Amino acid sequence: MDAGLKRELEEKVYAGERLTREDGIALYDSDDLTWLGRLAHHRRSELNGDRVMFNVNRHLNLTNVCSASCAYCSFQRKPGEKDAYTMRIDEAVRKAKEMEDEQLTELHIVNGLHPTLPWRYYPKVLRELKAALPKVNLKAFTATEVQWFEKISGLGADEILDELMDAGLESLTGGGAEIFDWEVRQHIVDHACHWEDWSRIHRLAHSKGMKTPSTMLYGHIEEPRHRVDHVLRLRELQDETGGFQVFIPLRYQHDFVDSADGKIRNRIQAQTTMASPAESLKTFAVSRLLFDNVPHVKCFWVMHGLSVAQLSLNFGVDDLDGSVVEYKITHDADSYGTPNTMHRDDLLHLIWDAGFRPVERNTRYEIVREYDAPTSLAERRSEPQQVWA
Ligand code: SF4
Repeated sequence: MDAGLKRELEEKVYAGERLTREDGIALYDSDDLTWLGRLAHHRRSELNGDRVMFNVNRHLNLTNVCSASCAYCSFQRKPGEKDAYTMRIDEAVRKAKEMEDEQLTELHIVNGLHPTLPWRYYPKVLRELKAALPKVNLKAFTATEVQWFEKISGLGADEILDELMDAGLESLTGGGAEIFDWEVRQHIVDHACHWEDWSRIHRLAHSKGMKTPSTMLYGHIEEPRHRVDHVLRLRELQDETGGFQVFIPLRYQHDFVDSADGKIRNRIQAQTTMASPAESLKTFAVSRLLFDNVPHVKCFWVMHGLSVAQLSLNFGVDDLDGSVVEYKITHDADSYGTPNTMHRDDLLHLIWDAGFRPVERNTRYEIVREYDAPTSLAERRSEPQQVWA
């Protein structure tokens, strides 16, 4: 990058000026990863100091049966496939109760668009989960699912959200966003929920006092300009509602092995590689710099591996999700050795080891517990260290 442009961008960031679309594209063009990290870290430190938030949560997928066939998805199954499943409500409750340990604060529930399950199933399952785990926040359903509920119930999103909130819904999830730009979206997304509906449903949720996450699936067939446009749409909506708590860049993943039937469901993997660690760090940094009105940027470590997750804390990230088990949507089989489970203590050590101060949060980003600052590196070196994958 031209030294003059570099100086200009630095001045804008240090003056707290809003970056433009052209600025975002120029940042992605830069090969100076250290410089990008320094800028993003400045912004991240202004907003969040040396804190790294995390939560203790579990993922629950009620069904993997889906009417859509999104090109990047290795989770969906069609009715009748041998590993297709749909949980009865009592099964979902039993499974959630089995996961109730370590002072769990959140259940994260995302599902396929089941062709025949009735709408009534969804509020009922929330009510019974809430009755069984009253202290646990229910973060459930993508905007895509809410739009699906409109279709199967004949109700509008307004009534649907009211009923789900009455049943215990604390927050929607951020999924279904992928890449909003139609140039890319038409090749990867097979359901009917695009920017107009995705933004309508989150706007509505925000108007009801709900805070929601926002996401972006990157590293497939999109180009950096599509990532910039995606973030700017969200930034504009955030200017309007202020309802997004966090932005989560999600790294597209190949479908490595399907142990059940040997099928590769992910149809775009022949056309693309996955984003490299450097590309991921760049995406975190540019997102932090562009999305200036969202409080937090999260690294969902399951999709990045623990090494990138630790490094991301110096590239704009201040939030790590979470003590996950059984993440299936893009993680049916990951041959990189990324663990599928991290307990609270594992996360604490991961954060301390990177030189940050852990803060446990709940779904609303309220503080559950603050932990000590990390001990100095010299002190840590005097003891055997945990080795991360
Ligand atoms: S991403 Fe969601 S909507 Fe698309 S095929 Fe997979 S489960 Fe279905």
